[in-house]
Amino acid sequence: MKKNLILVVLLGLNVMTNSCNEKKLTEVQVPLPEKEEVNKAMGNPADIIANVGAFKMMLLPYSYDALEPFIDAKTMEVHYSKHHLGYINKLNETIAGTELEKLTIEEILKSLDIENQTLRNNAGGYYNHNLFWGNMSSKGGGEPIGSLNNAIKKDFGSFADFKIQLTETANKQFGSGWAWLVTDKTGKLSIVGTANQDNPLMPNIGVTGTPILALDVWEHAYYLKYQNKRNSYVEAFFNVINWKAVEKRYDETIKKELPIKVQ
Ligand code: MN
Repeated sequence: MKKNLILVVLLGLNVMTNSCNEKKLTEVQVPLPEKEEVNKAMGNPADIIANVGAFKMMLLPYSYDALEPFIDAKTMEVHYSKHHLGYINKLNETIAGTELEKLTIEEILKSLDIENQTLRNNAGGYYNHNLFWGNMSSKGGGEPIGSLNNAIKKDFGSFADFKIQLTETANKQFGSGWAWLVTDKTGKLSIVGTANQDNPLMPNIGVTGTPILALDVWEHAYYLKYQNKRNSYVEAFFNVINWKAVEKRYDETIKKELPIKVQ
């Protein structure tokens, strides 16, 4: 109490002194960094270049902070400029000087010897992330329309049932991996999970289909913002799904009856 009283007296003296000196008290606002400055500090996705090799970085189709608040800018920056760059450089290094350099990433995956762990991890990492970046958007979320909407209703019952299944698959994947929406050549949809950087195009991994939607459930995809709460990240992911891109991939896959290129 006594302390408070002293403080009030001191404040009073301060005001008096100021008024005597005719000093004006003005509110000073600490400027917040402009959005552009934040992006500058983060770096620009376009500046991330893979080492010389067969495969190049797919340009991120949005800024690092575009998916906020669902996926934070720092996670996107580290994920794209460190993890993804690492997969590409390692892939290029692994296939340098071999016949594989002439193949598409889909051809490499489909003809993969799964005993070749380095190629399996890095070819998978390259393909999986390209699909993942492309199936998200700041204008994402909601539900698909048209052909994909019809197929989801036919194969899962409803969009809500589809969401439950994808969520369960993503949350129950033990350790690092991916959850996928895949289609077969007839347009029938299913949801599958894979470990590490495996994906359904690879032979002999226990799941099949052409991926049309990829969900990264490695901790590096969410840990900075969500820590151990993978389920919160998975829930948030539904707000950024670029359904137009997913539906385009679905239509093209059935039309061509071939996996379409991610890059
Ligand atoms: Mn990842």
